Amino acid sequence: MSNQEERNERHKKAMQRKKAHVDKRIAAATTEKNLLLVLTGNGKGKSSSAFGMLARSVGHGMKCAVVQFIKGQWDCGEHANFAEHPLVDFHVMNTGFTWETQDRSKDITAAEQTWVKAEEFLTDSSYELVILDELTYMLTYGYLEKSRILKAIKNRPKNQHAVVTGRNASKELIALADTVSEINNTKHAFDSGIKVQKGIDY
Ligand code: ATP
Ligand code: MG
Repeated sequence: MSNQEERNERHKKAMQRKKAHVDKRIAAATTEKNLLLVLTGNGKGKSSSAFGMLARSVGHGMKCAVVQFIKGQWDCGEHANFAEHPLVDFHVMNTGFTWETQDRSKDITAAEQTWVKAEEFLTDSSYELVILDELTYMLTYGYLEKSRILKAIKNRPKNQHAVVTGRNASKELIALADTVSEINNTKHAFDSGIKVQKGIDY
């Protein structure tokens, strides 16, 4: 057998072992459950991942809701794409960044009004996916009461997935979640003085 043939044979055996292992794990994962996903950390990719799942869900004909805390002052591609979509209810807090408003009591009122909308979605089983984009900041700034948020997420309909994004997710939220991804900031173009790019950043 030539070196190449030996290598091919070894590769085939290794792939057979791998397939047996993967098949076993797939066969063992039989539980159906509505998921809570938390996408946190300082790196880029939290909201864009959430909107990736929205695109997937809509592709399957699922009815979805999006609540965006903080954002709304600029023209995001995700809003342009999904706001008018027949399967998506899109609600934006619309105050802009907290360091822009610089008005805590106005922000709190807006956060509370926005949360009422989120609660509507989290109690309506016709929504199969609810995205709570940048929700964590409402908790870190103390704009919304933590126990109220956790309770609503926990008690959502059994057929409804939820996705929470934002930095510094609290330990209670992480404990409640089924899937948590902490996205690290290994490198970001902004740190090299590169401005936000349409299609990539918004
Ligand atoms: P994206 O929406 O691109 O997935 P994100 O949701 O992970 O980003 P946010 O903290 O919500 O990140 O920030 C929103 C904006 O800030 C985006 O334009 C994103 O590209 C940018 N951004 C994200 N992480 C960083 C970072 N570490 N440094 C500088 N800018 C960042
Ligand atoms: Mg984000």
